[in-house]
Amino acid sequence: MSSTFSLDPGADQLAVRDWLHGFAADVIRPAAAEWDEREETPWPIIQEAAKLGIYSLDFYAQQYFDPSGVGIPIAMEELFWGDAGIGLSIVGTTLAAVAVLANGTDEQIGTWTPQMFGTPDDVKVAAFCSSEPDAGSDVGALRTRAVYDEAKDEWVLNGTKTWATNGGIAAVHVVVASVDPELGTRGHASFVVPPGTPGLSQGQKFKKHGIRASHTAEVVFDGVRVPGSCLLGGKEKLDERLARAREGAKRAGGKGNAAMATFEASRPAVGAQAIGIARAAYEVALDYARTREQFGRPIIDNQGVAFQLADMKTRIDAARLLVWRASWMAVNNQPFTSAEGSMSKLYAGETAKFVTAQAMQILGGNGFTREYPVERMHRDSAIYSIFEGTSEIQRLVIARAISGMPIR
Ligand SMILES: Cc1cc2nc3c(=O)[nH]c(=O)nc-3n(C[C@H](O)[C@H](O)[C@H](O)COP(=O)(O)OP(=O)(O)OC[C@H]3O[C@@H](n4cnc5c(N)ncnc54)[C@H](O)[C@@H]3O)c2cc1C
Repeated sequence: MSSTFSLDPGADQLAVRDWLHGFAADVIRPAAAEWDEREETPWPIIQEAAKLGIYSLDFYAQQYFDPSGVGIPIAMEELFWGDAGIGLSIVGTTLAAVAVLANGTDEQIGTWTPQMFGTPDDVKVAAFCSSEPDAGSDVGALRTRAVYDEAKDEWVLNGTKTWATNGGIAAVHVVVASVDPELGTRGHASFVVPPGTPGLSQGQKFKKHGIRASHTAEVVFDGVRVPGSCLLGGKEKLDERLARAREGAKRAGGKGNAAMATFEASRPAVGAQAIGIARAAYEVALDYARTREQFGRPIIDNQGVAFQLADMKTRIDAARLLVWRASWMAVNNQPFTSAEGSMSKLYAGETAKFVTAQAMQILGGNGFTREYPVERMHRDSAIYSIFEGTSEIQRLVIARAISGMPIR
């Protein structure tokens, strides 16, 4: 790992960026409108990405451990520059993979992560199921229960998850459930549900405002039985953690935030996705402003339009700097003392919304039609202030980190 923060990702990483950009330009972008209209998972494109090695565990691991510290944000930005709905269909599996990598034993990682991706001839996806109808921002309110059946060494899962990316179509589902409701988030544990497990079914598939190629659905767990080995981290570790939490709860009435570091570390990647959308919309708007003429001159000749583009570019670059800093810090195990991961996701998500709205304005009537891609990019950007922690929740995390106060 590099111990010095640098804005030069290095020749290897730039070659990866150019390779991904080619895939985004030649394969993803031309298919974006079609899959947005179809509102279906673009399996042929995921398969093509798998054949090229872009949809694989190895690829993401290599990017994560790239010495530049910014391999993942660069990859995300290029794929989502192509299209956010297809981009999320390609990278959605990594949410579940990260949950196993963060909480699983080496054996669990080795067993489950390859099954999440399948093979290039038989691609699979995975889903991470945490949110519930009454537990979105308030993760502590989740009601899905996991009860241990000691006689059979099995866990029995019951509950309903919602808004799960790839929920119901995934080979492997990772589920967050409560094993001790009295402990709130500290009584949570994560479980792998293997392919074809009885009792797991897809509920409604949502029709969405944006990222429509990405599948989002409810997942129902009705007496789902999984072997003891599917508890991520194992029973012994869970029992120790619960004992510590009960002791801590007695002493401090405390609330834990053990999951916070993991969430913080994954946020720069989500911010980078938002930057990809913003950059794509900015490029379309810049090009349009140079060629569209009104009053006998290109519209970019007006300061009113040129200044909009200047603000868009400035905010995109500022967002990328925050994302790269946070990503580099996470890879180099630097503590996020001011919630730098949240800062990067907050600013990049809000930037994507700002830039795509400005781009639509610069394209005038054309920007409002589906003849031009900024309308879709504008719809896609809206999710970036909602999922993976809303903008308000990011502000809450940052405010708590900088103040040390239990701000609500
Ligand atoms: C397309 C899509 C894909 C998703 N994918 C997944 C997935 O794969 N897995 C998964 O588990 N979840 C997923 N989610 C769920 C997502 O993470 C939640 O929607 C998100 O966390 C917000 O929860 P909520 O929708 O219940 O909103 P709520 O928590 O009900 O929030 C509603 C509003 O209240 C605000 N608010 C709430 N509490 C506070 C507070 N304390 N202070 C200030 N404001 C507050 C929020 O910021 C928001 O504006 C996905 C959602 C969508 C739409």
